Amino acid sequence: KQQGRNNFQYYMAPEKTEAQIERFAMEAMLRKALERDELLVYYQPRIHTKSEKVVCVEALVRWQHPTLGVVPPKDFIPLAEETGLIVQLGEQVLRKACAQIKKWQDDDIGLDELSVSVNLSPLQFRQQHLPAVIARILRQAGLKPQYLELEITESAAMQNVNRNILMLRELKEMGVKISIDDFGTGYSSLSYLKKFPIDALKVDRSFISGIHEDPDDAAIVNAIIVLAKTLKLKVTAEGVETEEQYLYLQQHHCDEAQGYLFGKPMPPETFEEWLKLNMT
Ligand code: C2E
Ligand code: CA
Ligand code: CA
Ligand code: CA
Repeated sequence: KQQGRNNFQYYMAPEKTEAQIERFAMEAMLRKALERDELLVYYQPRIHTKSEKVVCVEALVRWQHPTLGVVPPKDFIPLAEETGLIVQLGEQVLRKACAQIKKWQDDDIGLDELSVSVNLSPLQFRQQHLPAVIARILRQAGLKPQYLELEITESAAMQNVNRNILMLRELKEMGVKISIDDFGTGYSSLSYLKKFPIDALKVDRSFISGIHEDPDDAAIVNAIIVLAKTLKLKVTAEGVETEEQYLYLQQHHCDEAQGYLFGKPMPPETFEEWLKLNMT
């Protein structure tokens, strides 16, 4: 009986790791998707609030799985990050995004000055040869560096401040733009803002959604816009969903706005259709 119970427990053990097995399976699938270059890049427009023109698109990765369908980034970015696959993933996104933007600039569709912003994972940012990788990708795509913006999070920027300043300087000397993503949700110290050679702040969506519900959120958004202006940084609002929010941002001189109000992240063909419908 004793023995049987032990055996029972022994054989039960693997069941507890079902999540791990699934994780291994996911990792293997993701690895395969990367090898086969199966990831897609969607584009979400960013609107210049004064001219109301599309000045930039954010590149957002999607995984089109044969049986799972379109897997959103929250379901595989953390895994990619843990396994290191994010480096390869990030390079594929950069390569696709740069090539696509170059194509849109060259097509006669009014996007000659279009920029692209690409999310950089903390692990990518820690790669010593990142500037060389980016330089090569830009060269291969034929895209000028000033049309590429890299979005990094506060926490990634804060991990090794002195080293990161050097890295950011190197990227900036290449002509690439840098923005701080999800601004306001991460590290509380603002002193790094004057030390870091950055170009823009992206106000986190959580503050934008509260503009008309919570006076504190409106006050924070306002303060971030003023802070950005003072530091001569561009400021973009993320997650703009209503006309009221957009009006507020226009009136408070937020430079750019991005969100479902204008358009969701779209595959390239859909973005071209969207552009015809919305920008003529
Ligand atoms: P993020 O960089 O903050 O990207 C913005 C996210 O907000 C996107 O989700 C976008 O679809 C969503 N969004 C945009 N406008 C609105 C809105 O008006 N309302 C709401 N509710 N949501 C809005 P998505 O595409 O699912 O991406 C989630 C996160 O995954 C991104 O957050 C980013 O952190 C990460 N991610 C996506 N693509 C990449 C990538 O290529 N590399 C890396 N390292 N991370 C990526
Ligand atoms: Ca053109
Ligand atoms: Ca982002
Ligand atoms: Ca963000």
